[in-house]
Amino acid sequence: MSRQILQTEHVLSMQNDLIVALQGQGAAIREEVMRLTASHEDLNKKYRRSLWLSHGCPIGGLYGDDGEMQCANFDRHGVLDFVRMTVLHLEEELGKMHLTESGIIIPGLNDDTPRKGLRIVPESGTD
Ligand SMILES: [Zn+2]
Repeated sequence: MSRQILQTEHVLSMQNDLIVALQGQGAAIREEVMRLTASHEDLNKKYRRSLWLSHGCPIGGLYGDDGEMQCANFDRHGVLDFVRMTVLHLEEELGKMHLTESGIIIPGLNDDTPRKGLRIVPESGTD
């Protein structure tokens, strides 16, 4: 029992040491969190801009006034808002678009009609 008490006291002592060590570090920790957050936001903006500019639609058809990054090339996809839509949603939509354009139909993913199995649509002019 006394050994448990000693261990508990030791753990409490270590916690106190840790608390003391962290006191005065709050500003540095907050600063690092803010730096990492800003870095993440910057990378997120750069990635979104890269997706917008390189997703394959003509640059002239992209809408980019006042910080907007949109494309509404209905020949390829619906309206894509590279500022407001989640990156995951954008990647999914672009992935579906590229699959469709490659002639690959995955039921439930880029085909409105649910079917079983994978269907490869041949390019026009080939069998
Ligand atoms: Zn587009």
